[in-house]
Amino acid sequence: MSWEKFTEQPRVAEILSRSLRHDRLAHAYLFTGPRGVGKKQMAIHLTKSLLCTRFEADACDECLNCRRINSGNHPDVYTISPEGESIKIDQVRSLQKEMTMRSLESPHKVYILEHIDKMTLQAANSLLKFLEEPPAGVIALLLTENSHAILPTIVSRCQVIPFSPLSASELVRRLAAEGIPAGVASVASQITSHLDEAREISQSDGFAQLRSIVIQLTKEIKQRSSSALFTIHEQFLKNDRLKEELSLFLDLLILWLRDILYVQVGRHAQLINSDQRDVLEGQALQWTQGELLHGIGLTMDTRSRIGRNANPQLALERLVLQLQEGL
Ligand SMILES: [Zn+2]
Repeated sequence: MSWEKFTEQPRVAEILSRSLRHDRLAHAYLFTGPRGVGKKQMAIHLTKSLLCTRFEADACDECLNCRRINSGNHPDVYTISPEGESIKIDQVRSLQKEMTMRSLESPHKVYILEHIDKMTLQAANSLLKFLEEPPAGVIALLLTENSHAILPTIVSRCQVIPFSPLSASELVRRLAAEGIPAGVASVASQITSHLDEAREISQSDGFAQLRSIVIQLTKEIKQRSSSALFTIHEQFLKNDRLKEELSLFLDLLILWLRDILYVQVGRHAQLINSDQRDVLEGQALQWTQGELLHGIGLTMDTRSRIGRNANPQLALERLVLQLQEGL
């Protein structure tokens, strides 16, 4: 594995490999970004690249150092993650002890701290002192999914490296690899760029139910009957569990209206609800492009009004009536 393989994080790989080549590594880095974007993998790769005995500023994955780092037992590399709920001061103390001992093998020592937002205040203060006076050759790699939960004094001692969220296509690929149907994965990947959230959305019972209410609703709206409002009441508002998911419901509605528009302009390759193509083609005959654009705008507006504490039930009823009126 070399730096070029980090195709999802090219900017991060470029910054780190360049600093390493020019011997300008900072003594502490803070890797921030959601779960699943490769922070730990990048930390391990940087460590191997620093200690690899065969390659200059990259990792061979074959030398003794690379192999020991891969298996987690290199004497100059120390990894800490929360014990139970938090990283405790004793863990930071033993880390400091390890790091201040002179290395017998190389001029560098590296410590990787995972989930550093989970440090107790004592542990964080102890780490802060260590970051202020780092021993020569020691490099700190601090990882977090939650950078705003870290003491600003710690952040200011580190070079902050933000990792990009996963791209939608990468997200779909990973969800599909876990056995989630492609159509569902594709919709979930448009709603969040976090793998865990996307998985949760995909697997929730509500997701499939909400999507089918959206499909039914957009059909009924065009029939200009009272059944659309009835559907909203009976299937959505009366179901407490689904009602909790109002913003997901509105997101699904926006994606659905957008897909109808894509069908109308012949951009089938861009369909998000690609598993519902037949239904979309049917509905594309009932909506005009103007109505769709207007409907997307109205739905976005409803979403932000609810975000500003509008009454959800009234806002939703109003939306349905406005969609029925068309332009
Ligand atoms: Zn190596």
